[in-house]
Amino acid sequence: MADRKGSILVVEDEEKIARILELELEYEGYAVTKVFDGLDALEACRTKSWDLILLDVMLPGLSGIEILRRIRKNDQITPVLLLTAKSSVEDKVSGLDLGANDYITKPFQIEELLARIRAALRNKQTEQPEVDGEILSFSDLKINQKTREVKRADVEIELTPREYDLLVYLMKHKRQVLNRDQILEAVWGYDFFGDTNVVDVYIRYVRKKIDLPNLPVLIHTVRGVGYVMKDSK
Ligand code: CA
Repeated sequence: MADRKGSILVVEDEEKIARILELELEYEGYAVTKVFDGLDALEACRTKSWDLILLDVMLPGLSGIEILRRIRKNDQITPVLLLTAKSSVEDKVSGLDLGANDYITKPFQIEELLARIRAALRNKQTEQPEVDGEILSFSDLKINQKTREVKRADVEIELTPREYDLLVYLMKHKRQVLNRDQILEAVWGYDFFGDTNVVDVYIRYVRKKIDLPNLPVLIHTVRGVGYVMKDSK
């Protein structure tokens, strides 16, 4: 089956269950690969990247928990759903501690499993831009974090490194009111000694370059508190 909905690695030693999972998931449009033990699972993770991993905890040899621990050493992004026995609260807790995205207890309803898989894949998609998002954008302001290129209304803007860091911080916390200490800590670092006035000074510099007279204001002063990046509306 084509890779349209995503690829799922199923790690399950009970062949009957693995087969049912394969049939159901393929029917839903996922591309499924089955492995039956931990070493094959780790090998499959080394050689290919998966959209989601469905991981049974009770496996011969390496347990699902141990496999999860090893997967998470190199990969914090791929969603992992654990299949656990109903009674095993410990597995659920340590699984979630180790970075499992969700778990489902056996015996499971296939509809519930499919819903959990959809939710995990959806979350992955919405989180992805944060992870490797190179473009930050707000209103007509855009920052390419890879090239450090800044544009307002398609016009390129030159910023000093400190102005750039300040603007990136505001963009990443858009619509949040940020006080001077927060900004100072984030942009200048914990060990900055000096006056928080430096924040006001740099905000002024950035404003001059970003909030041009004919464009809507993006950086707003919140009196007595600090600053916020938001639409003028
Ligand atoms: Ca098992």
